[in-house]
Amino acid sequence: MSGTDTIILIFIAIIGASIGSFLNVLIYRTPRYLNIAYPSSHCPHCGNNLKWYHNIPIFSWIFLQGKCAYCKEKISLRYLVVELLSALIFLLIFLKNGVNSYSLLLSLTFALLLALSLIDFEHKAVPDSINLSALTLSFFTSPTILQNFINALLLAGAFSLLRFYVSYYVSLKEEFYLKRRLKRAPWLKSYFPQPVMIEAMGEGDIIVAATIGAVLGIELSVIAIFLSAFLAIPASVFLKVSKKEAQLPYIPFLAMAFFTVYLFDEKFNALLEWFING
Ligand SMILES: [Zn+2]
Repeated sequence: MSGTDTIILIFIAIIGASIGSFLNVLIYRTPRYLNIAYPSSHCPHCGNNLKWYHNIPIFSWIFLQGKCAYCKEKISLRYLVVELLSALIFLLIFLKNGVNSYSLLLSLTFALLLALSLIDFEHKAVPDSINLSALTLSFFTSPTILQNFINALLLAGAFSLLRFYVSYYVSLKEEFYLKRRLKRAPWLKSYFPQPVMIEAMGEGDIIVAATIGAVLGIELSVIAIFLSAFLAIPASVFLKVSKKEAQLPYIPFLAMAFFTVYLFDEKFNALLEWFING
């Protein structure tokens, strides 16, 4: 690698980390319905405005040792992690795809998915504003814009149907348990509501599936969605075992699988080829 290449990579990492800084603002403010531009960055604990040197991606967190410069309140490690991950996303995509405008749009798409993952993790719901921004960007991540759009539509449709099937299955299962319980204790009948349709998977997941379709195309998207379900298994088992009635956020797994399949698309294509033709 030449000296110029190294400088370009450092520049890309700096852009990635700065976008990460902005993602931190989105992650904190959008689910709380706060304006993302005003007021400027301040400590949520003591309210003091941050100076520019408190706001340098990655470095400020390390120099301040994760504490507010004024009141010494702890600043979540999440701020550092998001900036580092965003820098990494930019670097990996530019290294894979070359230095061009498509790489920038791809990096931004994945960066928004990183923000969505963390919001979903914390709030179990995501703002449409960020989700639709990622989808819109994804149409333009390669020269075949019309095809990307069609692939997004197909994946959104496929994922909606999958959601109907899973919801139907989950609802049937629930109705079955309800009936069995009522058989044992019919006097409880008045306490139980009529069986209701349970909606499995969030609506936000459909938009993410469309974004995956636009970037990966149909075949690789199907692999990415299978992979996301596979990645989610250990987490859902953990939730069951720990008896937490929590809902599993699914976007982090979709995003992780999406990024993995994107980075190793040739390997996954070879796998697909082997699977179909033997
Ligand atoms: Zn403070």
